[in-house]
Amino acid sequence: MTTVALKDVTKVFADGTIAVDSVNLDVNDGEFMVLLGPSGCGKSTVLRMVAGLEEPSSGAILLDGELANDLPPRDRRIAMVFQDFALYPHMTVGDNIAFPLRLSGVEPAPRGERVNDVASALGIGDVLARKPSQLSGGQRQRVAMGRAIVRRPGLFLMDEPLSNLDSGLRAELRAEISGLVRELGVSTIYVTHDQAEALTMADRVAIMRKGVLQDVGTPTQVYGRP
Ligand code: ADP
Ligand code: ADP
Repeated sequence: MTTVALKDVTKVFADGTIAVDSVNLDVNDGEFMVLLGPSGCGKSTVLRMVAGLEEPSSGAILLDGELANDLPPRDRRIAMVFQDFALYPHMTVGDNIAFPLRLSGVEPAPRGERVNDVASALGIGDVLARKPSQLSGGQRQRVAMGRAIVRRPGLFLMDEPLSNLDSGLRAELRAEISGLVRELGVSTIYVTHDQAEALTMADRVAIMRKGVLQDVGTPTQVYGRP
């Protein structure tokens, strides 16, 4: 299980930019939280601080109730997916998905089994021997997700994972991602500037503007419609 709490979190960059300004936010266990706002409002900076890639200037980040400000990324049981997928081009799909398990020393037999389970859950079981360059955009996104979830993270962080895809595929993957994440029961923070995406995917939406959290609630509470 994973809960996340941001307590009065502020990030001021060296050049004086206040990217995140006194943000308070709770993500419940198994919740799909969408962080919504225009480009430059501080969404990625929030995500990077939760992941441990960026340190807060002030305030506290709690993971499962424990202060995590100084916890290195590898000790956070967190998986991240980015918009550029960042797959390893020289490796097959199977090796891409297996990579985190290999790093953590999982033996070949259970590794193969786990990769097959994840790949079939994502509908890419038949392309395991291909290279990323031989896949469609949607398939690449599924591989990136497979690689992210293969170690059973407690928390899933996604930064605009669909923004490089065309609109038809985006709509399709929206449903697929939220379905998969709910099936896994993994807590999620999903960053987007797309309101339609937020409304269809979120348990709750957190709306950010200029570093400040303006509103948090279910889509109905925030927009008056689901
Ligand atoms: P996004 O798609 O999230 O808006 P950006 O283009 O703002 O991404 O940022 C991409 C990368 O550049 C990030 O790693 C971010 O930390 C860094 N970055 C953004 N703005 C600045 C800046 N003014 N000075 C230095 N680095 C920046
Ligand atoms: P978003 O993800 O909502 O697009 P970001 O969190 O990437 O926003 O950026 C928030 C603000 O912080 C922007 O003004 C961006 O230019 C700035 N910023 C991001 N990274 C850096 C950095 N490394 N140095 C200075 N400013 C940055």
